[in-house]
Amino acid sequence: MIIIMLGAQGTGKGTVAGHLVKGLEIPQISTGDIFRANIKNKTELGIEADKYISKGELVPDSITVPMVANRLDEDDCKNGAILDGFPRTIEQADSLKEILAKENKKVDLVINLTTPREEIIDRMITRRVCPNCKATFNTKLNKPKVEGVCDFCGTNLVQREDDKDPKAIEKRLQIYEEKTSPLVEYYKNEGVLRTEVISTSINHLAKEAAEEILADLKK
Ligand code: AMP
Repeated sequence: MIIIMLGAQGTGKGTVAGHLVKGLEIPQISTGDIFRANIKNKTELGIEADKYISKGELVPDSITVPMVANRLDEDDCKNGAILDGFPRTIEQADSLKEILAKENKKVDLVINLTTPREEIIDRMITRRVCPNCKATFNTKLNKPKVEGVCDFCGTNLVQREDDKDPKAIEKRLQIYEEKTSPLVEYYKNEGVLRTEVISTSINHLAKEAAEEILADLKK
């Protein structure tokens, strides 16, 4: 099963994907995490990608698309994957369709998370991530049991570089609106879209949405 996580930054895509990974036993492919690992290890791909990521811009498709195609080709993806952060443009969605068609696969479900803008910005500022197991926490809404420490592997939590810079946050949200949000219509037309409102105002957070989605998938 191929699942795509759609939604602006800070809506809880990583949290939902993490839950689904455990429940469905298929891997999560986060393009952002792959880029960050490459940046940390100073690979050629990482050095190139960082030029865009540090400014909040999209990494060119010539780098991103083959990277995802190669990852999907790995053994652990034979039963499917949860794509988190890809596709981000109509062009990438078309490329994904072609990549999957070669394996007689298709996108089965697109989970679209929507959150009011003021909540999104607050969540990006208060987000903390585990650099080791990639779990996501939040200093207000999803606190770790011990402040600053990952519940799952005990590693010290960090703030993402691009979450520290208000200009990069604004840029990412602007790019989401312009380039990624048209994918909602794209996948609605394909009949695979499921939208979930994630907001403290209705007491519906990513964790609850993930449990509901998982229960439906297991019916
Ligand atoms: P994320 O962790 O998903 O917020 O991604 C962090 C950054 O990585 C983004 O702001 C982009 O610069 C880059 N990135 C991640 N996924 C993609 C993608 N599908 N296409 C282009 N750039 C991406």
